[in-house]
Amino acid sequence: MKPTTLLLLLFLPTYVFSQSVDTAMLCQGHHFTEAEGKTALERFARSYHDVASWETRAERIRQGIWEGLGLNRNFERTPLSPIIRNKKELDGYTVENIAFESLPGFFVTGNLYRPTRQLPSYPAVLSPHGHFQDSVYSARTREDMQKRCASLARMGAIVLAYDMIGYGEASQTSHRHPLALVLQTINSLRAVDFIISLPEVDPEQIAVTGASGGGTQTFLLTALDERIAVSAPVVMVSAHFFGGCVCESGLPIHRSQDHQTSNVEIAALAAPRPLLLVSDGDDWTKNNPKVEYPYIRNIYQLYGKAKLVENHHLPNEQHDYGINKRKAVYHFLAKHLSLSISEIQNTQGEIDENFITILPHEQLLVFTEKYPQPAHAIQGDQAATNLLSNY
Ligand SMILES: [Zn+2]
Repeated sequence: MKPTTLLLLLFLPTYVFSQSVDTAMLCQGHHFTEAEGKTALERFARSYHDVASWETRAERIRQGIWEGLGLNRNFERTPLSPIIRNKKELDGYTVENIAFESLPGFFVTGNLYRPTRQLPSYPAVLSPHGHFQDSVYSARTREDMQKRCASLARMGAIVLAYDMIGYGEASQTSHRHPLALVLQTINSLRAVDFIISLPEVDPEQIAVTGASGGGTQTFLLTALDERIAVSAPVVMVSAHFFGGCVCESGLPIHRSQDHQTSNVEIAALAAPRPLLLVSDGDDWTKNNPKVEYPYIRNIYQLYGKAKLVENHHLPNEQHDYGINKRKAVYHFLAKHLSLSISEIQNTQGEIDENFITILPHEQLLVFTEKYPQPAHAIQGDQAATNLLSNY
């Protein structure tokens, strides 16, 4: 075999996959101005007038995401082979360190928070973390993540916090992998498979919530997976901003030769399932009360279910998943998953997270010196690209 032939064979999987990515169709970052984003919504709204015509459009948008990802919606769900260990008993909840294989040899790493209370079955909440850095913790083990997951667990939910690729323990690829959007979407879809594989979880009561890039993961998963019953994307849904990272907008999921959409409509694919938009006055969600929320509410109104979509706007706040945003989500999830908000309220009826023990980062790791990554774990961006070429 000539060396050039060998080289071609070595790089064939990458070549085949990259050929399917139409970069001219990418909508990234501030692809629209605020005015263009608003005008686009007005244009989109003229393409439907009732549930049937909206669902025709919704299916085109949903199919556009699968096509943009280059992923077959019936991709093979290989064995998860879950690892769950190091249970820590805390005040009203427990925390375990977990991993499962979303693809053969490709691990999702995370923590599972469970209520201590015995219930016949439990709702579950998936909790992606977003691009929030911290000098001591990883994005997944940050204090605000621990507080969110512990509070929801004490309220009665089983909660899964899971790493984005290239973050925390998910060290098998870089975060800037050109196919990060596919890898993370597969991870989210497989996180649903994992959580409903737990016999104590009620598969009809699965929610997802995350902020920023975790908000993007939230509305994409909700759009693609009907098993998500309740959705709460935080500080992300915008008519003019498409997400600034390769893991949010690195593939053409918003546009094709015959359609154009934005994250507002992708979030609206939740309809008529309960949806909460949390927004603030300092980022691309600042117009939510006047632009994005009314647009999505009109779609819910087609179903006669406008009350199932809410917007909690915090005009004096910034881009984070701080306490006031968490409070809004706690109340929304309590309402729609029948969780007990009183479990995290003090005697004055205020939400009080002081029962939570913030664990050191090291105690939350599933892979350690004693328990290293399994030997069959793939390593490196090229290996992940090769793995995806089978899907
Ligand atoms: Zn990213």
